[in-house]
Amino acid sequence: MSALLESYAAGRWHRADDEGRPVLDAVTGEEVARISSTGLDLGAMVAHGRTVGVAALAPLTFHERAALLKAVAKHLTEVKDELYELSFRTGATRRDSAVDIDGGIGTVFSLASKATRELPHDTVHLDGGLEPLGRAGTFVGQHVWTSRPGVAVQVNAFNFPVWGFLEKLAPALLAGSPTIVKPAAQTAYLAELVVRRIIESGLLPEGSLQLLCGSPAGLLDELTVQDRVAFTGSAHTAGLLRGHPNVLHGGVELTVEADSLNCSILGPDVAADDPELDLFVKAVVTEMTVKAGQKCTAIRRVIVPRPLVGTVTDALAARLATITVGDPRSDDVRMGALVSLEQRDEVRKAIQSLRASADLVHGDPDRVEAIDADAERGAFLSPVLLRAHDGAVEAHDVEPFGPVSTVIGYDGLDDAVALAARGKGSLVGSVVTHDPAVARHVVLGTAPWHGRILVLDRDDAQEATAAGGHGSPLPVLVHGGPGRAGGGEELGGIRGVLHHLQRTAIQASPDMLTAITGRWTPGSQRSDDGTHPFRKSLATLRVGDTIASASRTVTLADIDHFAEFTGDTFYAHTDPEAAAANPLFGGIVAHGYLVVSLAAGLFVDPDPGPVLANFGVDHLRFLTPVKADDTIAVTLTVKQITPRSNADYGEVRWDAVVTNADDQPVATYDVLTLVAKEWPQA
Ligand code: NAP
Repeated sequence: MSALLESYAAGRWHRADDEGRPVLDAVTGEEVARISSTGLDLGAMVAHGRTVGVAALAPLTFHERAALLKAVAKHLTEVKDELYELSFRTGATRRDSAVDIDGGIGTVFSLASKATRELPHDTVHLDGGLEPLGRAGTFVGQHVWTSRPGVAVQVNAFNFPVWGFLEKLAPALLAGSPTIVKPAAQTAYLAELVVRRIIESGLLPEGSLQLLCGSPAGLLDELTVQDRVAFTGSAHTAGLLRGHPNVLHGGVELTVEADSLNCSILGPDVAADDPELDLFVKAVVTEMTVKAGQKCTAIRRVIVPRPLVGTVTDALAARLATITVGDPRSDDVRMGALVSLEQRDEVRKAIQSLRASADLVHGDPDRVEAIDADAERGAFLSPVLLRAHDGAVEAHDVEPFGPVSTVIGYDGLDDAVALAARGKGSLVGSVVTHDPAVARHVVLGTAPWHGRILVLDRDDAQEATAAGGHGSPLPVLVHGGPGRAGGGEELGGIRGVLHHLQRTAIQASPDMLTAITGRWTPGSQRSDDGTHPFRKSLATLRVGDTIASASRTVTLADIDHFAEFTGDTFYAHTDPEAAAANPLFGGIVAHGYLVVSLAAGLFVDPDPGPVLANFGVDHLRFLTPVKADDTIAVTLTVKQITPRSNADYGEVRWDAVVTNADDQPVATYDVLTLVAKEWPQA
C-alpha cells in the first residue's frame, strides 16, 4: 500500500486509524497515496488554532507577520523541484505547475512585500481619516481594523493544490488568523507536501497552520462567530456549506469562489487581418489548454461578431490541432491529463449537454491520442471546440471543467454584453479590441457581472501575456466574482487581508485615539521637551514630539524672487491687476510651494543628525491664501514611527500645519522622512 496522507493537527502529525481510500495518478492510474481523516479530532484542531495559534500571531505586527511569510516563500523556493516532480502526477505539465507552484510562492512574496509597504508596524490598521464629531474637537471618530480571535478555514478545489492554499494562507496570516487548510482529495498529496515542508522548516509559530487530509465532515459544527471559511469548489458544495446552521445562524463567515462561465468578447472593430484577431485566438487556445482547461478562470464562452464566427472557428480549430496531449513529463506534450477519470466523465457529460444546442467543430470527446501514455488509464481528453446554435442556452449554464469552449455569435455590442451577462456572474471576462469606444461600452456593460476584466489589444499584449493574460489571478488584483461565481472576493493586495480583519468605528477624544492607535491624532497633546525632534533618533523619538517654529513674514520681494528663480510666473503671483480680478485671491498671493518651502526653512534643524532624508509629502492642501506681508509659522509633530526591519533607519511621518497671524491654517500636510534608528550610528 502507498503512503497514507497525514493531517497536521494540534501540533502533531496524525495518521488515520483505517486504510483510507486511494488517490490515483492522473496520468498512469496508479495509486499515489491514500487519504482518510478517521480519528481526527476536529474540535481539538479548531481549539488549538484559536488558543495556541491566535496567541502566537495576534501580538505580532503586520510587518512581523509579513517577515514570516517571506521566509516561508523563500523556503518553498528552495524545495520547489520536489513539488514540481510530484505535480506531474496531478496531470499537470511543467508549464501548468509553474502557474500553481511558482504562482503560489510569488503570491506570498507579493503580499508580504505589499503588507510591509502599506500596513503599519503595529497590530492595528487605520481605515480612512479622522471624522470630527463635535465642534470643539474634543470628540472624534476613527475606523480601525484589528485581528479576530478565530480561525481561517480554507476548503480548496483540486486544480491548484499549491496556489489555492498559499493565496488564502498569506492574507489570513497577515491578518493574524491561524489557518486550517482542507485540500481537495484528488490532489491532497501535493498540498500535504507543501504543508509538511513549511511545518518542518519551523518558520511559522505553532498553531498558525494545520492540515486536514480527508473528510471535513463536522468541521463547520466546530466553528463560531469569529471564525471564517473560504471555500473554492463547485456551486453544489457551496450550497451545502451556505445551508450549514453555523453559517445561517451562528455568525460563521463564509466566502465562496465557485463555478464560472467566463467569456472573451472579440470587438466588432477587429478585422480578419488585425493583430487583435490573432491575440484573441491565441488567448482562447491558451485558456482552453493550460491545466487541461481545469481553471476556474478559463474561457468557456467565445463571443464573436456574427460575420466573423466562421473565421474565428477555423482559426481556433487550426491552432487546437497543434495541441499534443499525453504524459505531462514529455517535452513533446502541450496538454497533460485531467485530474481523474471521474473528472473526465464529468467533462464528457457536460460536452454531451452542450451538444444539445451546439455543433462539435474540433476534437473527439471519446478518443484522443496520448503521447508516451496509455490513453485509457490516464484521464486524457482532446481539446473540444463547439459552435453554438442561435439562442443556445446550455453554453451559458453548463460548466465543462476541462479543455472545452463554445463559440457564440453576436449582433451588435448590446447583444455581446447581454450574452456575457447570461453567465450570471463570472470571475473574469476579456474584450479584445483596439477601439476605445468599444472597450468602454463593453467594460461598463459587463463590469457588474465580473470580478475582473482584461482589455487586450496590440498595445498591452506583450505585457498582458507575460502577466498571465485572461486566466491568471494576480495577487494585487481582486479574484472573485458576483452571482454564480460565488460572490466572494480574494486577493486584491491589502484588500484580501482586510477580509480577515474586523472594522470598528472608535469614538473618543483625540488623546484616547492616539493611545489606542499608536498614531498621533490631530487635537491630541503634543510634547515639546526643548530638544528639537530632528536631533532624536528612532530610539528616542516619540509620537507627539513637536517643534513649534518661529514666525516669518512673507514679503512681496520673496514672492517676486521665487517667481523669477523657479520660473513659476503664474499671474496670481506676478500680475497685480490680473490677480485682483481672480475671484479667489483678489490680489497677489504667495505660491503654495513657496509657503511649503518657507515652512521647511522654519522647522528644520540644519546640522547633520539622525534625520537622513525627506522622501515626500502626503495630503498637501493649501487652505488660506498667503498675501504679501502675511506672517506664517509651522508646527511639526511626529505622527507615526515605522522602523524598517531590513535597514538601520525607519520612516517617520510628521503632521505639518502652517498657520498665519490669525492662527488660521494656511497649509496642512504630512512630511515623510527617513530617520536613523540610532544616532550617532554605530
Ligand atoms: P467540489 O467537489 O465542490 O470540492 C471542492 C472542495 O470541497 C474539496 O476540498 C472537497 O473535498 C470539499 N467538499 C466536498 N464536499 C464538502 C462538504 N460537504 N463539506 C465541506 N467540504 C466539502 O469541487 P471540485 O469538483 O473538486 O472542483 C471543481 C469546481 O471548482 C469547478 O466547478 C470550478 O469551477 C470550481 N473552482 C472554482 C474556483 C474559483 O476560484 N472560483 C477555482 C477552482 C475551481 P473532497 O475533495 O475531500 O471531496
